[in-house]
Amino acid sequence: MKSIERLRSGINTIDEKILQLLSERRKLSKEVIQAKDLTDKPIRDKERESQLLRSLIKTGKEIGLDSNFVTKVFYEIIEDSVRIQQNHVLNIGKKASVKDATFRIAIQGIEGAYSYLAANKFFANHGNQLEFIGKKRFDDVIKSVESGEADFAFLPIENTTSGGINEVYDLLLHTSLSIVGEEVFQIKHCLVSYKEVPITKIEKIYAHYQTAAQCSKFLETLPDVVIEYYADTAMSVQKIKEEKNPNFAAIASEEAADIFKVKIIRKNIANQSENYTRFLVITRKPIEVDLRIPCKTSLVLATSQEPGSLVEALSVFKKNGVNLTKLESRPILGNPWEEMFYLDFLGNIKDEKVQQLLDELGKYTRFLKVLGSYPTQEVIKTKLDFLSSEKPAEKIASAKTEEVKRKKIISKKSKEYKLASRDYKPEDTIIKVKDVLIGGNNFVVIAGPCSVESYEQIMTCGAEAKENGAQILRGGCFKPRTSPYSFQGLGFEGLDLLNKVGKQYDIPVITEVLAIEQIQQVAKYSDIVQIGARNMQNFALLKEVGKIHKPVMLKRGLMASIDELLNAAEYILSYGNRQVILCERGIRTFETATRNTLDLSAIPVLKELTHLPIIVDPSHAIGQRDKVIPLAKAAKVVGAHGIMVEFHPEPEKALSDGPQALYFSQFEELMQSLRKLD
Ligand code: PEP
Ligand code: MN
Repeated sequence: MKSIERLRSGINTIDEKILQLLSERRKLSKEVIQAKDLTDKPIRDKERESQLLRSLIKTGKEIGLDSNFVTKVFYEIIEDSVRIQQNHVLNIGKKASVKDATFRIAIQGIEGAYSYLAANKFFANHGNQLEFIGKKRFDDVIKSVESGEADFAFLPIENTTSGGINEVYDLLLHTSLSIVGEEVFQIKHCLVSYKEVPITKIEKIYAHYQTAAQCSKFLETLPDVVIEYYADTAMSVQKIKEEKNPNFAAIASEEAADIFKVKIIRKNIANQSENYTRFLVITRKPIEVDLRIPCKTSLVLATSQEPGSLVEALSVFKKNGVNLTKLESRPILGNPWEEMFYLDFLGNIKDEKVQQLLDELGKYTRFLKVLGSYPTQEVIKTKLDFLSSEKPAEKIASAKTEEVKRKKIISKKSKEYKLASRDYKPEDTIIKVKDVLIGGNNFVVIAGPCSVESYEQIMTCGAEAKENGAQILRGGCFKPRTSPYSFQGLGFEGLDLLNKVGKQYDIPVITEVLAIEQIQQVAKYSDIVQIGARNMQNFALLKEVGKIHKPVMLKRGLMASIDELLNAAEYILSYGNRQVILCERGIRTFETATRNTLDLSAIPVLKELTHLPIIVDPSHAIGQRDKVIPLAKAAKVVGAHGIMVEFHPEPEKALSDGPQALYFSQFEELMQSLRKLD
C-alpha cells in the first residue's frame, strides 16, 4: 500500500511540474506575439509548427512515447498557444465603444442557460465585467442591442444535432447589427431534478423544444413521461426548483444544475455524444479583424432565379480558393418559393482577395449583404505535410505575382460608384418580375394611371393594360404633388386596390413610396417599388429600399446628372438590393414649351456606363398626351429596355396629371406602333 502511495505522490509531483512547464510555455508564447507585433508576421507559422511536431515525434520515439500520443498532446498545446496569440491581437473590447468596463450582454433566457454559459466562455479572455440582460425571445435580444440597452447579443445559430435556428437566421437578414464573433460550445445535456430520485419515478420533464429534439432517443425510453416545452433550459430548472416536486425533472446542462443547486439524475442524455452549439456575438459596429488572425465572414444572398445560378455563385468560391464552411437556405418571407442563402467562409473582409470574391459574387446575386467578418474559433490543426513539393521561396514568388494581378484589377475602379458600373459587371442585368423580364434584349411596357383613384378606375385600367399587351400595371398611391392642396393619393387603400387588380389580371404592379414607413407594406403588396424623381437623392429612403427583396425603379431627379443618378442607384445596390431599374423621365432645362425635356441621349450613355435596365417615361417628360407616342417610339429606337406611360379611362376627370394621360385609343395605337418597330 505504502509503495502505491509513494508512486501516486511521485505522479502528483510530475503533474504539478507539467502544469508549471505549461504555464512557462504560455508566458513565452505571449512574448513571441509581442515580438511578432513589431515585425507584423502572421500569428501562425505553419512551417515552424510542423517542424516542431516532427522533431517532438522523433524525440518521443527515442524515449518510448508513441507518435499518436505525442501528436495529440502537442496539438492541444499548440492550439492553446495560437488562441492566446489571437486573443492578444483581437480588439473586440476596444472597438465595442463601451463607456465603462462592463459589457452588457443580451441573451435569450436566464443565467444558467447555454447562451449564458457560452457567453461567459467567449468573454473570459477579454477581462471585462459581464452584465446579462435576459429576454424571452430572440427578436427582443436583437432589439436590446439595436436600442443600445445592451452592448452585445449572444445568440445560438446552429446545433450539430438539430441544425440551424431559423428564427435567428431570419433576424440576421433584417438587422443592421454585425457579427463580431462566434463561440462553439459543447452541449452536455443532463436530466436533473429537485431531489435525488430514481428515473422510474419521473412523471413530467420540462425541456426546451430544441433540447428535447436533441435528446429524443433518451425520451423515447420514457414513454409514460409527459414532456412540457419550456422557453429555455435554465428556466426549466428554475421551474422544478419552484415546484419542489421530486417527480418533475428538467433537461439542462451540468453547469445549470450547479448554479441552481439541483441534482443530476442522468448525464449525457443527448442522441449524439458530440453535441455542439455555435453562438454568434452581434453588436452595432462591425469590427476590423487583424489580418494575422484566422477569420470567418458570414453573408446572405439571393441568386437570380435562372437555372444554375446558385452553382455559378458558388463556383466563385472555388475559383478564388476560398473555403466555404456553411451554406443554409431560408425562404424569403413574402416571395413564395424564393430562397435566401446564408454562407460562411474562411476569409477576412479586409483582405483584397475577399473583396475581389465579393465583387465577383455580386454579379450572380439579386441581393447580397455581409453580416460580419470575425475571428473564427476553428483552429486549423498543424498539418505534417512531408510531401510538400513546392519550395517555400517559390511559394512566396507565386503569391507575389497573384498580389500584383489583384492590384491591377482594383486600380481600374476609379469612379465613385462601383456596383452600378459596367466595369464591375459587363453583362446586362435582367430582372425577373413574375414572368416579365426587364433588361437585356427585352422591351417592356409599363402602363396605367398616374394615381389609383377608385376600384372601378384601376380595374378598367388593369383590363386595358392586359388586353393590349402591357406587361406591368402602374398606379400611384402615395403622390408627390407640387401643391399640398392637390390630391395626395389613396395611400394604403389604393395599394390594396392596385394589388387586387394585379392579381385579378395576373399582371405585376408598380407603385411609388414616399417615406421610409411605407416601404415594408408597399414591398409586400407591389411587385416593384418606385422611387420618384423628387426622392432620387433621399439617401435615407434609398438605403432602406436597399434592404428589401423587391426590384426598385429609380427615377432620375429633375436636376440630376447621369453621374448622380448612378450614384443614387449605388446606394440601393450597396445596401444589398441588386435589382435596380433606372428611369429617364425628363429633366428641367431652360425650355418651357414642355413639362420637362426628355434626355434621350442619356439612354446610350447609361447603357455604356451601367448594366442596369433603363426605362423611359415619356409622359412625365413631355406632359402632353398627343406627343407621348413619338417619344415612346424614339425611346425604343434609342435602345431603352422599356417605357412607362400614363393613361386614364377619362383623362379630363383624372385627379392627377390628366393632360398627359393617353386616351385608351391612343394607348392602343401606341402599342401597335411599338410592335411595328420590332
Ligand atoms: C410618377 O411616375 O408617378 C411620378 C410621380 O413621376 P416622377 O417622380 O418622375 O415625377
Ligand atoms: Mn404622374
